Amino acid sequence: MPTNAEVTATAQKYLLGNYRQAPISLARGQGCELWDEDGKRYLDLYAGIAVSTLGHGHPRLTRALTEQAGKLLHTTNLVYNAEAARLAERLVGETNGALARAFFCNSGTEAMEACVKLARRKAFLAGEPNRTRFVAFKNAFHGRTLGALPLTGTPKYWEGFDCDVERVTHVAYGDLEQVHQAVATHPKEICAIVVEPVQGEGGVLPAPPGFLAGLRAITREIGALLVLDEVQTGVGRTGSFFAFQADPAIEPDVVALAKGLGGGVPIGAMLVRAEHDAVLSPGTHGTTFGGNPLACAAANAVLDAIAEEGILENVGEMGAYLGKGLAALADKHPKVAVGERGVGLLRGLLMAPGVEARMLLGAARDQGVLLSVASERVLRFTPPLTVTRAVLDEALERLDRACAGLGG
Ligand SMILES: *Cc1c(COP(=O)(O)O)cnc(C)c1O
Repeated sequence: MPTNAEVTATAQKYLLGNYRQAPISLARGQGCELWDEDGKRYLDLYAGIAVSTLGHGHPRLTRALTEQAGKLLHTTNLVYNAEAARLAERLVGETNGALARAFFCNSGTEAMEACVKLARRKAFLAGEPNRTRFVAFKNAFHGRTLGALPLTGTPKYWEGFDCDVERVTHVAYGDLEQVHQAVATHPKEICAIVVEPVQGEGGVLPAPPGFLAGLRAITREIGALLVLDEVQTGVGRTGSFFAFQADPAIEPDVVALAKGLGGGVPIGAMLVRAEHDAVLSPGTHGTTFGGNPLACAAANAVLDAIAEEGILENVGEMGAYLGKGLAALADKHPKVAVGERGVGLLRGLLMAPGVEARMLLGAARDQGVLLSVASERVLRFTPPLTVTRAVLDEALERLDRACAGLGG
C-alpha cells in the first residue's frame, strides 16, 4: 500500500494540474466513512460532491455492479440493452409520465450539452433558425464543455476559451423582472431558459417560491423551452426525487440529471416531454458509452434503494437535523459563520465577513470531515442520502472544534 505522500508525489508529477487537490489519497470507504492511504478516518459529508447517493460499499449497489460486470459491461447504441430500457422507464415513471423519454450520457456537462442541442434543433426544425439564444443566471453552474460553459454564469470560467457567451443573457437568479427584460430585448430569439432549482456551485441558493413557476409561464408565453438542470438537485437530494416536484406548477420541458444517478458510477441523463421526442433524430446526437449496461445497472440499483429503503424520508429528517445543527454552529461561532441555508441534504454554511469557506474546509479536513465549497463564501454539505444522526452528530462536534480552531 502506498502512503498519502507517495501518491501525492506521483500525482503531482504526472496528472494535469487543472485541479486544486488536497495532499491525501482516499483508499476505501464504508457507509459515510472514508479512510486515506495512511489509515486516517474521515466522515464523508460531501459524497464526492453529491455523487455517492448510497454512501460507500452499499451491498445492493456492489451486488448489482458485480453481477453486471460478470454478464456484460458494454454493448453499443446499435442495439438495445435491458438495463437502459428499464432505467428509462423508471425515470419516466418518477415524473408520472410528464417527461416521456430519456437520453443517457456520461456526465452532467454532457447532459446539459444535449439540452442545448435539443433546444436549438427544436427551433431549427420549427423554421426559426434565429431562435438560438438562451437565458441563464448569474453564478449558475452547468458544466465545462463549450456548449454548456456559456450557460455557466461565472465569467472567469470563460476566460481564454473563445466561449460563445454572446448567445446567452445572464440575469440575477430569482429576479423574474430581469427575466422579463431579457426576454423583451430578444423576443423571438430565445430557444430556452436554463435554470437550477437550487444553485449548487453558486452557493447553495434555493430558488425563491414561485420563481420556477414564473419561468414556466414566461417560456410558455414566448414559445421557449424550460430546461431544468437537476444534475445536483435530482435523485432525491432535496427530499423529492426531482427538486421541481416540490411545486406542481413547474412543468419542465427538459430535465438534466447526473451526479447522484449512478451512486458513484458515471452516468448522466436528459429527460424530455413527449412532444420533443423527435427533435434529436438518428444521426443528430449520440455517445459511445451513453446508456451502457454497467452504468445503467448502477443507476437501477440506486433507484431500487430509493424505492425500498426509505431514503427520501431520511433526506427529509436528516436534512432538517443537519440544518438545525449548522444554525446552532453559526450561533456559537459568529466570527466564523453567520447562518445556513439549503433544501434536504443540499445545505450551505454561510461564512462570516473575512472568512473564506476554503479556510474552514481545510480546518474541517484536519478534524476528519470532508466537505466542499460552493463559491468563496459557502461551505457545502452534500452527505450520502443514507447519512445517520450518529454520523451528523460526530461531524458537527468535529466542526465545532474546527470553528474554535479558526479563532471563532
Ligand atoms: C456538477 C454540475 C454540472 C456538471 O456536471 P459534470 O458531471 O461535472 O460534468 C452541471 N450542472 C450542475 C447543476 C452541476 O452541479
